[in-house]
Amino acid sequence: MERCEPLQVLKKHKIRVTSARVALLAEVFRRDDAFSAAELHRATGGGFDLATVYRFLNLLVEKGVARSLPGPQGEQFFEKACVHNPLHPHFVCRRCGSVSCLSGFAFDEKLFEVEGEGFVVEEISLLLRGLCASCREASS
Ligand SMILES: [Zn+2]
Ligand SMILES: [Zn+2]
Ligand SMILES: [Zn+2]
Repeated sequence: MERCEPLQVLKKHKIRVTSARVALLAEVFRRDDAFSAAELHRATGGGFDLATVYRFLNLLVEKGVARSLPGPQGEQFFEKACVHNPLHPHFVCRRCGSVSCLSGFAFDEKLFEVEGEGFVVEEISLLLRGLCASCREASS
């Protein structure tokens, strides 16, 4: 499946288009893993400040283009939320802090349609914590 087109997605969600935003969103769509705002900032060469990257990512979350998940220290991690990346659980390594997508374990978003109960769902995450393969090897 082809990647989403950043320019089209920005327009579709009525997000003001700037070349910086197109570049950032292209990088978000290029990544198949979860990342921090700082990582994205580094990967895009830092032509804009970190606060701008952070604000833009949160705007994408608000529009449903990206999703936010808690990282190892409770900081925000992000990933694309398009058809190419269905909702799935994440594994966080307590030793090295790596965040891994468990894409093979996608779950049904309908499970979380609890609005009838009066709740409004703003974020969904399932986080598994433990040791990653390389940390496990190092400790045995
Ligand atoms: Zn996509
Ligand atoms: Zn680890
Ligand atoms: Zn993920």
